[in-house]
Amino acid sequence: MARRENPGILDIAASLLEENPLCDRCLGRQFAWLSTGTSNDQRGHSIKLILSMMADETIKSGAKDEGRKLLAALAGNGAFAPAQTLAEKEELDYEKDKVCCLCTMDGECAFDKIPEIVQRAVKNTKDIEFQTFLAGSIPRPTLAEREDELKGQHDLLYGETLRSNFNREFGKQLAVAFDKTVDFDRPELVVVYDMQNDSVRLQINPLFIYGRYRKMVVGVPQSRWDCTECNGKGCDVCHNTGRRYPDSISEYVSLPIQEAAKGTRFKFHGAGREDVDALMLGTGRPFVVEISEPRVRTLNLSKLEKRIRKKSRKKVEVEGLRLTNRQHLQQLKSESSENVKEYSAIIKTDRELTDEEVERAERELTGIDLAQRTPTRVAHRRSDLTRTKHIYEVRLKKKRSHELEGYFKVQGGTYIKELISGDEGRTVPSVADKVGSACLCTELIVTAIHNLETDHNP
Ligand SMILES: [Zn+2]
Ligand SMILES: [Zn+2]
Repeated sequence: MARRENPGILDIAASLLEENPLCDRCLGRQFAWLSTGTSNDQRGHSIKLILSMMADETIKSGAKDEGRKLLAALAGNGAFAPAQTLAEKEELDYEKDKVCCLCTMDGECAFDKIPEIVQRAVKNTKDIEFQTFLAGSIPRPTLAEREDELKGQHDLLYGETLRSNFNREFGKQLAVAFDKTVDFDRPELVVVYDMQNDSVRLQINPLFIYGRYRKMVVGVPQSRWDCTECNGKGCDVCHNTGRRYPDSISEYVSLPIQEAAKGTRFKFHGAGREDVDALMLGTGRPFVVEISEPRVRTLNLSKLEKRIRKKSRKKVEVEGLRLTNRQHLQQLKSESSENVKEYSAIIKTDRELTDEEVERAERELTGIDLAQRTPTRVAHRRSDLTRTKHIYEVRLKKKRSHELEGYFKVQGGTYIKELISGDEGRTVPSVADKVGSACLCTELIVTAIHNLETDHNP
């Protein structure tokens, strides 16, 4: 064949076939991005047909050796039936029963194995509820390496990988067998075929449930709190429970959901947290529960709300449960420091204050920016920084001779106890500063969280 400066499709295909056994699909795949809208199989078949015609033409025109060389490649490495017929007629020897070097696994074409792999996948997913899925594969390293080698040797610019081709075929057949939809962005289930180990792996993606909780009693931390003496192993201090507090909001809320969804683990993401000894009332604090490997996705959410309340013995109430997604969770996290929160507090003072002192403090703390350094009591889990927080409103009222009732409307992330006490100068200004007396917060209740997120649905 005449060689051009830049070899064209047919020249490349002829030299590929001279050296390598290639089935129609694998040959066609090397040109997959040219003239899309057909199959790799068709591409490969068409190329081989044209090459056979060219070989025949070359033989007939008298250049016998050149024509026979190409014909032998097509009949042998190409295993192309029309070329084989022609080769018999020409009494041409060629190597029979060649298997494709890019898709053969243990003597069988990987694509021919798909129906059997699909059956296994269907069987393994029988008790898993899902609506969307994605098919994937881990190619056999030897096949992937050979394909890369050929790409480099023959300057194949328009090829598709075995993996991508296989995944597409696998996905198509799975969609029919499952009667479900392929979703590339957020599949509920990912089915991966590992070619090397001939195994089907399932990845069940998490379920996300949004809601808001109210904490009706004090003494329950938001997350599980292990005993600090033994780090959860169990010791005398914790009476061998391994825990500092026996329960938590996250367990009360998440465990009934995990159980209903038949999941394996949970993660509880709260939009901020209140102190152990603070209540969380009003409209509640937004959260997202993430359930790993759920086998059930259709949940009776109002029933779950009731079960959470009952199982926590009315310590925790949740409402507004609904399904959501990872994007929403990320949004919730990034917004939690932008929220506006309202608190009511009881404040003990070390002397009786005058009405004038109380009113002045109220006035001077409303509408200001606060400089708050990370409180000592949380320094072990938060980096030591000074943050600026906005105080929207402060209202103070004398209750008893040494007691004030306070209302605070602040930016999310403000530490209220320290806004009251001053935290030995780490929070400036503070109620203590402004009234000129030591102040201690003895009771704290979150009464509202105005979350940007609750105003719209994702
Ligand atoms: Zn092949
Ligand atoms: Zn312990």
